[in-house]
Amino acid sequence: MTATLIKGTEIREKILEEITAEVADIKEKHGKVPGLVTILVGENPASISYVTLKIKTAHRVGFKEIQDNQSPDIAESDLLALIEKYNNDESINGILVQLPLPKHIDEKKILNAIDPDKDVDGFHPVNVGRLMIGGNEVKFPPCTPAGIQEMIVRAGVETKGAEVVVVGRSNIVGKPIANMMLQKGPGANATVTVVHTGTKDLAAHCKRADILIVAAGVPGLVKPEWIKPGSCVIDVGVNRVGEKISEKTGKKIAILRGDVDFDAAIEIAGFITPVPGGVGPMTITMLMQNTLKSLKYKLGI
Ligand code: NAP
Repeated sequence: MTATLIKGTEIREKILEEITAEVADIKEKHGKVPGLVTILVGENPASISYVTLKIKTAHRVGFKEIQDNQSPDIAESDLLALIEKYNNDESINGILVQLPLPKHIDEKKILNAIDPDKDVDGFHPVNVGRLMIGGNEVKFPPCTPAGIQEMIVRAGVETKGAEVVVVGRSNIVGKPIANMMLQKGPGANATVTVVHTGTKDLAAHCKRADILIVAAGVPGLVKPEWIKPGSCVIDVGVNRVGEKISEKTGKKIAILRGDVDFDAAIEIAGFITPVPGGVGPMTITMLMQNTLKSLKYKLGI
């Protein structure tokens, strides 16, 4: 058997087209477009490239976008004041502070200062609580887990009653996706197990997974013999394992591998996500989705 590839790059295009159409429709009917501000402190090259991609995507779907770059020396109190300014700005529906922040700034304090109704990353404790309650309480599911769930649903994989095993318990991937998959409702209603470094027999848990979601950050952690034949394997891991010269640009680029032994797993699983081009492209897509949702909540539509 060769698994069906769940390509994040293709699903991203479809969702961004849907968002673009909805933004145009809201603009016509209500005269408003979603507003997203990205706050970048300092000049970390990885942060610059993430923010640039977010801005490009926001423009593509027709959002109002403000890029607010701040010096690495900005005082914590000034950054808090900046967030307060955007909390009070009616034209802004989503506030994104690119992490990491310089050491003299308390990240938690900054993220907690964002109005939970503009917290499109879904990291504010209020939104984490809403996610835990589930149902209509959920406003902004965190972007990577939301992307994972979207991929599973769009691939047509049955989640109701499925054995879902999540490898990893981070606050940004493992815990929220486990919580989302166990909620009563469409795209979820699964029986969920979360495994981590304290787990006694990782292989035994993975082997009974109908849906295996791996977010450990360990290249090749999941061995082919741990995969249940016909199951759905979502590989969230993005690990740099070397460098190569790009055929397109002639420049040095990273060689990326997931947490799953992809070449062997594709012969066993029913569905599988590649790395790169799987979960990765979904995160920014869901950020756009959350920003659009934020405007819709405000307009009551
Ligand atoms: P993290 O905060 O480092 O958490 C990793 C989790 O995996 C921890 O809970 C850890 O267990 C568990 N783990 C690590 N090694 C393990 C092992 N040998 N056996 C069992 N469990 C193990 O990582 P993260 O932020 O969740 O990210 C995980 C991976 O996903 C990374 O490769 C990251 O780059 C990638 N990622 C991708 C996207 C995207 O594509 N958009 C977004 C976010 C993250 P303990 O809790 O016991 O330490």
